[in-house]
Amino acid sequence: MPAPGRLTVVGGGLAGSLLALALVERGLGVTLVDAGEAMATSLSYGGVAWWAGAPGPLGRLLRQAPARWRRLEARHGFLGWRGCGLRLHGGVWSTALLRPPFAQVDSAVLMAALPRVLAAAGVQLLRGRVLGPPRPRAGGWRLELAPGGTHSADQVVLAAGAGCRRLAPALPERQRASWAGVLALPARHALPPAAAGPWLRHASRRRIVQPRHWRRPALEGAAPALREERWIVDAGFAPWGEGLLLGQISLVRPGLDTGEAPAAAAMEVRLRQGLAGLDPALAALPGPYRQVPVAFCTGGLPLVGPLPGAAGLWVFSGFGGAFAQVPVLAPLLADVIAGAADCSALAGLGVLPC
Ligand SMILES: Cc1cc2nc3c(=O)[nH]c(=O)nc-3n(C[C@H](O)[C@H](O)[C@H](O)COP(=O)(O)OP(=O)(O)OC[C@H]3O[C@@H](n4cnc5c(N)ncnc54)[C@H](O)[C@@H]3O)c2cc1C
Repeated sequence: MPAPGRLTVVGGGLAGSLLALALVERGLGVTLVDAGEAMATSLSYGGVAWWAGAPGPLGRLLRQAPARWRRLEARHGFLGWRGCGLRLHGGVWSTALLRPPFAQVDSAVLMAALPRVLAAAGVQLLRGRVLGPPRPRAGGWRLELAPGGTHSADQVVLAAGAGCRRLAPALPERQRASWAGVLALPARHALPPAAAGPWLRHASRRRIVQPRHWRRPALEGAAPALREERWIVDAGFAPWGEGLLLGQISLVRPGLDTGEAPAAAAMEVRLRQGLAGLDPALAALPGPYRQVPVAFCTGGLPLVGPLPGAAGLWVFSGFGGAFAQVPVLAPLLADVIAGAADCSALAGLGVLPC
């Protein structure tokens, strides 16, 4: 296998950052290019449902996720990992009694820590938007950047979430994108007293509240057959630094193009109506409303591996349960890129992009 050479990762969210750390740990020189735009990771609940599974052998691998996060923290310092209570609503009467083990990586803590952690690990950080698909040049790839300039690398990993399709239009169709919206409250302590509603008590105890039956997976599964856009609300919330994320509304459009952001005012009204169905006190909380594009793959298996017919071009995207999948898959992909393993482990998980 040829030497890995100069490596560039496009995308500085959860996927690109953890992959960059895994690559430098293997002794490789890594540049991480990020547009610095709103990303899914920064508004994520960060729930690590390692027991919730994924199709096939990937489900078993996900049980390693808690140990992976602890290992990352042992190496790089606090990243926001914590065991936390989970309360479920909806379903049969006994749902409220279910208390599955749960953990969260607080996305506000993670996002605050990543620039320092990446720099300390030796990852070169480059701010810029990659304007289109990487262009082949002698033995490598050239990236056109905004606001200007080019960047060359021997190998490029696309870890740009919903931005991946613009960089690789021929990605398998199973990778799509939705828009997800939340109320992003900056200060939990400013919430009304717990008596204001039955669920807010859980917020003050830093618990995550989620539906017993998520509607989002069914919406994602229906995506290939959609003829018009559809949206759903999965009412719930999660601690977010000193604040609280209340969500979430998901909107999926027909086709593979994420398109322009949906009208925020209309999305906020729909989200508040959905929250009111759980607890009117939640629907009355101030906000602001924020929304981001989120990549997903129909079928639940992400895209991890080399892009066919493009030597030195890789993809790492489309996760379902990213906070459990990314920490276990990043080391596997890093081993392949570093030449320490072949693609058989990734093939066995069904995640190769072909
Ligand atoms: C409200 C909400 C709740 C969620 N809850 C959970 C949860 O509880 N558990 C869980 O596991 N997952 C959850 N998710 C999903 C999870 O957060 C995402 O799947 C994950 O964060 C995606 O990470 P990523 O790095 O692939 O993409 P992103 O975080 O979107 O990062 C992509 C990065 O690429 C950059 N980029 C894009 N295009 C370009 C370009 N052309 N040039 C340069 N840079 C570019 C962007 O600026 C961005 O920084 C949730 C998501 C949302 C929105």
